[in-house]
Amino acid sequence: MTLEQETFEVHDPAILQQARQLIDSCNSPREMAQEVLEAVRRNEQWRGKSCVNLLAPEAPTSPTVRTLLSAEVGTRAAEGHIGAVNRWFAGTKHIDEIESLCVELLKKLFQAKYADHRLCASMIGNMAVYTALTQPGDTIMSLSQPVGGHSSNRSDGPAGVRGLNIVDVPFDQAELVVDLERFRQVARQVRPKLVALGASMTLFPFPLREMSEIVAEWGGKIFFDGAHQLGLVACGQFQDPLREGADIVTGSAGKTFSGPQSGVMVWDDSALTEPLTHAVFPVLAATHQVNRVAALAVSAAELLAYGKVYMARIVENAQALGAALEKRGIPVLASHKGYTRTHQVIADVRQFGGGLEVAHRLARANLITNKNLIPGDKPEDWDRPGGLRMGTIEVARLGMGASEMEQVAEFISRILVGGEAPEAVEKEVTEFRLPYQTVYYCFENEYPAVIGVR
Ligand SMILES: *Cc1c(COP(=O)(O)O)cnc(C)c1O
Repeated sequence: MTLEQETFEVHDPAILQQARQLIDSCNSPREMAQEVLEAVRRNEQWRGKSCVNLLAPEAPTSPTVRTLLSAEVGTRAAEGHIGAVNRWFAGTKHIDEIESLCVELLKKLFQAKYADHRLCASMIGNMAVYTALTQPGDTIMSLSQPVGGHSSNRSDGPAGVRGLNIVDVPFDQAELVVDLERFRQVARQVRPKLVALGASMTLFPFPLREMSEIVAEWGGKIFFDGAHQLGLVACGQFQDPLREGADIVTGSAGKTFSGPQSGVMVWDDSALTEPLTHAVFPVLAATHQVNRVAALAVSAAELLAYGKVYMARIVENAQALGAALEKRGIPVLASHKGYTRTHQVIADVRQFGGGLEVAHRLARANLITNKNLIPGDKPEDWDRPGGLRMGTIEVARLGMGASEMEQVAEFISRILVGGEAPEAVEKEVTEFRLPYQTVYYCFENEYPAVIGVR
């Protein structure tokens, strides 16, 4: 007799079932592989060529960076620190060249004394920071999710796994910045070992100088998790955390930084080098994809060459998109202070059906955005929050400017305010996207000839 075993999948069981049926219908493993390739091709045709991608954590990479991601060196095993005696494997002389170029390019870009290049994700960088600088039971402070905080610094992510006691950084929900007065009170009370400033919804700079002076009273440290703003930070388009009092900065290489999806960590204090790098290796990374390291190094060089103009365009586009949406009757957060100082625009779409419904409705018209928690959302609103987050990294890198943001806002408003069926707008969105297929701000294609006019 067989016992009926209950299955539990976190994934959508219907989609897994479809895949099983597809695999079962194949006559050979070769056909199964073919199905994978075809799904990849469909995505490239749709998301890569036909959609206006407004996902804030996404960036198109240059042709060279994409090519490097399949380079031969990606099949080589390298673990440990750079240099023959620091590694377990022989044969790494050229890998040492690649990795040391990456480390030195990152230091140059961030004007930092130290950098680590081996983080397969920014999330791993955050885990490295908690591993290196905290002990289970320590108190830290971080931002809660409804005001923009990220799981990596909360109880459901690395900070929670480390067994930390997590206290909220008070946030002014009208101004969308840290409430410094209340922070002073709470921080003096709980004396956090580390204050993590990491925000997935990130519109305005943090008062880093003031906060670092406060935590210095008991020797606390400021950890700037600049996952989203990393490229803006590198190119002087946002605040300069290392100079303003942050002890350590982590960030994603695939968000505004516009390189391969992975992580970066930089710091200045020599005393942190041993604990941080030890937390990377041997604790959290062994082989670390040298093809990705090469791609990261080239992305850093691209930002050195083109980043100032590129990052400025991203922010200009975000501000233009915010104004264009507001003008058409879609409420945008922080309209009283210019909407944003980053690549993000946050709309309050409660009156249009909420973030989940709106994001999926827009996707049917090839406009790709994501649902987002906004101030005022409650924990029970997690899956169906009131906000919509848009980012302008990709549209900027494809050469778009303020006039194109008007056009994008018009598409969005026709669906949300005008009530047009997404399918009726889809064809026009695809035609609008068609001439924008070149990735700029890289050595191959340099700058777009004219911004905002085609
Ligand atoms: C996206 C994000 C991360 C995680 O970055 P990955 O590179 O995807 O691991 C960490 N912190 C914040 C604030 C983020 O927004």
